[in-house]
Parts: sequence; C-alpha cells; structure tokens
Amino acid sequence: MKKIYGVSVDFIDGFNASAKSTYPDEFICFHRAEEGVVTEMVLVPGSVFGESHSFINEWMAPVDFEMSGSAHSHPGYSNEASDADLTFFSHMGGVHFITCQPYDRTSWKAYNSSGEVIELELVF
Ligand SMILES: [Zn+2]
Repeated sequence: MKKIYGVSVDFIDGFNASAKSTYPDEFICFHRAEEGVVTEMVLVPGSVFGESHSFINEWMAPVDFEMSGSAHSHPGYSNEASDADLTFFSHMGGVHFITCQPYDRTSWKAYNSSGEVIELELVF
C-alpha cells in the first residue's frame, strides 16, 4: 500500500455527516485509500454503535488488510484518542480518524498506528 498523504474532502464530509446522524452514539467505519489518498468509507455489516469504546474486540475479526485504517466519532468536543483507541490503532495499523462535535471540516484529527497525530492534506 502507498503511504497515505491525504484525505478527500468528500470522505471528511461523509464521515462527519454519518457522525452527526449517529450522535449521541459513536459512528465507526473503516476506509480505503487510492494512490495515497483516503477516499472511501467502508461500512462493515453488524456495526457496533455504542457510547463506549467496547467495539475493539468485536472489531478485530472483520478487519480486512486491504483497508487503510479506521474512522470514528466522539460524542463530545474532544478528538483526542483514548487509551482504548490507541490500543486499537496499534493492532490495526494504518491511519485512524477521530472526529468530534461540531463534526465539521476542522473537527477531526488523524493518527498513525503509534497514536501520533499526523497531518494529512485535504484533497478537493
Ligand atoms: Zn475514540
């Protein structure tokens, strides 16, 4: 897989719209990248939406290695990764998005599998 350097604005808008409509529950999905740009949300059947981060164990099984990482929402105003998030990121690898209220183009952060915040180019 090519190194991911960017994310399409359509992905960010779609991710935030889903997060908004799932609120106050968390929204989670996986994503795919094309030519180093995250472009597509991948929704897994049987998705677990909940108020906690208890998805981790349930979500390890369906991970498909073509996927470039995950994206999930927080119901509050923090897009900081929790300890559970960091454990999940390190197991899955790839790039991980967290968005929070108000679910707009500036409310998300991207993390690498070590839990470090990474800068991604917004691709229009
Ligand atoms: Zn989280």
